[in-house]
Amino acid sequence: MIRVRFPPSPTGFMHIGNVRTALFNFLFARKNNGKFILRIEDTDKERSKKEYEDDIIEGLKWLNLNWDEGPDIGGPFGPYRQSERLEIYKFYIDKLLEEGKAYLCFCSEEDIERDREDMLKKGLMPKYSRRCRNLNKDEIEKKLKDNSSPVVRFKTPLDGEVVVEDELRGRLTFPIENLDDFVILRSDGMPTYNFAVVIDDALMKINYVIRGEDHLHGNTPRQILLYKALNFPLPKFVHLPMILGEDHTKLSKRHGSVSLRDYKNEGYLPEALVNYMALLGFSPKTKEKEIFSLQELIDEFSIENLSKSNAIFSPSKIRWMNHKYIEMLSIDELLKRIKDFYKDSDLEIKNDDWYKEFLRLMRDHIFVLSDIKKLVKEIFEPEKLSDEKISYLRENKNLILEFYDAIEKFEKWNENNILNLIKDIGKKLSLKGKDLYHPLRVLITHQDQGPEIYIYIYLLGKDKTLNRIEEVLTIL
Ligand code: GLU
Repeated sequence: MIRVRFPPSPTGFMHIGNVRTALFNFLFARKNNGKFILRIEDTDKERSKKEYEDDIIEGLKWLNLNWDEGPDIGGPFGPYRQSERLEIYKFYIDKLLEEGKAYLCFCSEEDIERDREDMLKKGLMPKYSRRCRNLNKDEIEKKLKDNSSPVVRFKTPLDGEVVVEDELRGRLTFPIENLDDFVILRSDGMPTYNFAVVIDDALMKINYVIRGEDHLHGNTPRQILLYKALNFPLPKFVHLPMILGEDHTKLSKRHGSVSLRDYKNEGYLPEALVNYMALLGFSPKTKEKEIFSLQELIDEFSIENLSKSNAIFSPSKIRWMNHKYIEMLSIDELLKRIKDFYKDSDLEIKNDDWYKEFLRLMRDHIFVLSDIKKLVKEIFEPEKLSDEKISYLRENKNLILEFYDAIEKFEKWNENNILNLIKDIGKKLSLKGKDLYHPLRVLITHQDQGPEIYIYIYLLGKDKTLNRIEEVLTIL
């Protein structure tokens, strides 16, 4: 049975790159009837926060990426929060110490820094000098008296190579001499990432480790050495291509929003985000199709169809995709989503009939749900008219008066009738095109551009349209 995991560190809000890692693990598990496990890696006491853990859990739920085992629901290999597994790590640290595969290190930060500088001066690659690697029992006893909180380092073999069999990239070899005796237990008693991840992946019977390529060089070879030292069976590794910004540098805040909550707050739909993120580094077999439901993604997913080259995150493409999803929803469903989106905001969505008409006619202009508030505001609370626009309207006063009269008498309020009404006025005054529509647009919206003016007038309603014209007429 395939068992994969998503093990975020709760040291920040859920990153969009992490969404992709979680998603690929989820898709792989669901495709193969396997298990998808959520594990919280909170061993960095200073940087880990409950708030971030909650954000990650809420984010995954919102995206509909449900897990089978995790800190909130438990499972056969729990606990699933690393801070609750310290006893387990201690057991394996002691085991490695007893077997002579790890050792206590008493070096101070200053010692280590001095050694680094010496090595750099000699033109060597700086790494830990291994000063404490061969201390004898007496030396250790003596040092323990002065320093009761040493770190534990792994006794990395002195030569040879580590082979990483990556399911996507093939066989990769790393010379061991570049890997120093890395710390596995910090002086505060907390395990380091590389150690805890191996213990947990092994005990939780993870058989595929699917994660970003950023782990390939520094972490995977070290982890393989630990698997071997502990006689744990190796999982299969898949290192996913990185996600870059459009300038081909690592995706970061400079490229715009990178946290999932920003996308949620802006009004992205979870299924659009999932669809877009899935296509970063994965090409479905069905070509020339871009819109995939979660179930279709599950059906399509395979490691062979992952790409080795980096993926580019395009803010305009994700917006486009969100727009597509907004277009695909039924009006009733869209209204439901909007009510939910605006439930704690100052935009009250009460008049369902009006909003349904608004959505029917304005959907083309909605890319993210937050666009709705902007559009509604534009309709009911237009900007003040500039002096320039006032004199422009003054020049068109005839048309405005004619329009006012027609609207006042007008009975069958729908957008097509309003369009015909405008055309009739045009015929009567021998005006057409820009000369007809633009003054009316400025009159009603106070702007030079925007959605079709007859739609706007229809949505504004008869009384409010008359009021708005009256207001303008008082200043002309
Ligand atoms: N906690 C690690 C991270 O968030 C997990 C990496 C891994 O998948 O091993 O980067």
